[in-house]
Amino acid sequence: MQQILDDIAAQMALETDRGKVADYIPQLAHVDPNQFGIAVATPDGKMYTAGNASTLFSIQSISKIFTLTIALGKLGDGLWTHVGREPSGDPFNSIVMLEHETGRPRNPFINAGAIAVVDAIMMGHEPKETLGEILQFVHFITDDESIRFDHKVAASEMAHKDRNASLAYFMKSFGRLKHDVDKVLGVYFHQCSIEMNCQQLASAGLYLVSNGVDKHSGVRVINEHRARRINSLMMMCGHYDGSGEFAYRVGLPGKSGVGGGILTIAPGKGSIAVWSLGLDHIGNSKLGLKALELFVQETGWSVFAE
Ligand code: GLN
Repeated sequence: MQQILDDIAAQMALETDRGKVADYIPQLAHVDPNQFGIAVATPDGKMYTAGNASTLFSIQSISKIFTLTIALGKLGDGLWTHVGREPSGDPFNSIVMLEHETGRPRNPFINAGAIAVVDAIMMGHEPKETLGEILQFVHFITDDESIRFDHKVAASEMAHKDRNASLAYFMKSFGRLKHDVDKVLGVYFHQCSIEMNCQQLASAGLYLVSNGVDKHSGVRVINEHRARRINSLMMMCGHYDGSGEFAYRVGLPGKSGVGGGILTIAPGKGSIAVWSLGLDHIGNSKLGLKALELFVQETGWSVFAE
């Protein structure tokens, strides 16, 4: 495993076309785009890393896995009245389908869906309480209390909120959001601003590797059915309109973020986190996808084969 990761990191260091940084969040554009990290956590407690695996980055939309998990814990199947579970085939920040579907977003991983999930978990609480709950959940699954929000990134998104605010107001006009739009966006931007490194992220994914149990600590995070379903959603919707391509090239459930990270789950085998800042035209990490493709070729890990 270590050899595989070292080879991938060496190969990624040679890549010249590293994609485009998401400069619509100006604070993200301050990061050096020449870095690459990969970490693999396995249920027996091992961690393998290569490259910049301990450099913190903005996990952005990868956080939507964690808020979905919290929401399913709180609302159970009631969550599906707020949001659907079909792939959208549209960009992550698209508003197109919302009108046809009366303000109910297609799935919890597009921005509109994640905003609806935040509104659902707030349930009358103040934004700070919900943020505390999200961070506590992340600390719990990583067993690492050093993980924090990056308030500068959150403020940068709030200052450039026009698109996400449009999505939120549009949903609110259909009576879909219960809370004040700015409060919901404040929570959403902070959850996206969580900073983690590849090692922390790989260890956060372990509960989805082992049917909802964090094998490391032996603690059950969610029940087996939910873990399986979150993995299904990641496979179908985790890369927006690039989800088909990701399934084809990688063949594992994965969730990307515009900070350049991707968390990928190989059920029963391990949790893989990769990070490279530059994105492809869809908004998924360009080298992250390439590295994962190499990784599954070398390991044979896939949900479509033994
Ligand atoms: N915070 C980002 C946004 O709302 C998340 C998008 C992403 O990571 N794909 O635009």
